[in-house]
Amino acid sequence: MIVKTHAIVMRQAPTANTSRVVTWLTPRHGRVATMIKGALRPKSLFLGQLDLFYTCELLYYMRADREVYIARECYPVKPRPTLRHNWRACAAASYLTDLTARICPPHAPQPFLYQWLDDALDEFDHHGTAPGHVFWLELKLLEHLGLAPRLRHCMACGGALLPGSGPATFSHARGGLLCARCARNDPERAPLIPPDVLAILRNWQSAPDANAARRTRCAPRQLTTMEALLGQFLQYHLDLPLPSRDLALAMLKRTMPPGKCA
Ligand SMILES: [Zn+2]
Repeated sequence: MIVKTHAIVMRQAPTANTSRVVTWLTPRHGRVATMIKGALRPKSLFLGQLDLFYTCELLYYMRADREVYIARECYPVKPRPTLRHNWRACAAASYLTDLTARICPPHAPQPFLYQWLDDALDEFDHHGTAPGHVFWLELKLLEHLGLAPRLRHCMACGGALLPGSGPATFSHARGGLLCARCARNDPERAPLIPPDVLAILRNWQSAPDANAARRTRCAPRQLTTMEALLGQFLQYHLDLPLPSRDLALAMLKRTMPPGKCA
């Protein structure tokens, strides 16, 4: 069966001779791998038609008895040229595509993940990025996965934790906040979450687009706290090492003006 679909290049690896295996994210078939024979030959129809972070129109032969399909044609739809020279945006794009490839099962429909990654790569291409933007994207992904950190109620007693209601701790294992009374009996000894960081995360979690993260000016201390909190939360609940996240955020912070989030 020939499949025609839009697809995002998440990984590509050379194989013997001039061929390469490309891992794509598609909306209806999830993670798909295709062999592109002769991709590196000078007269190949695929030459210049795909690269990392491209969204392409892809035609491939799908067979139930194969894990790697044969690509027939490919045309770039969104080449995203900024990601070829803006190394900060490239680092963030590398992290998100790596994360997506790790959590996305093969051959399962992934319309949300596809749109989430496609939109994120568009934003990186048009506007660049910053740590706050990446954290907002992580919050949206966790929400889709049913793993959104609960930031308005105590996970133990269910009591409301409204702004100004006193200190709260953040428990990765329980998936959100604990009130002061429940935290005293918590064997995990979850750490306190600073009220200003909690307020930012609550705001971003309810924001429908990345503009909230772009407009928020964060102190370096706040960004460092959010990086650790969300990083540990992702690793705990996804059970994945995320070295690409550490690398991307280190690069984003390296040239970021003090106190500027976006
Ligand atoms: Zn409680």
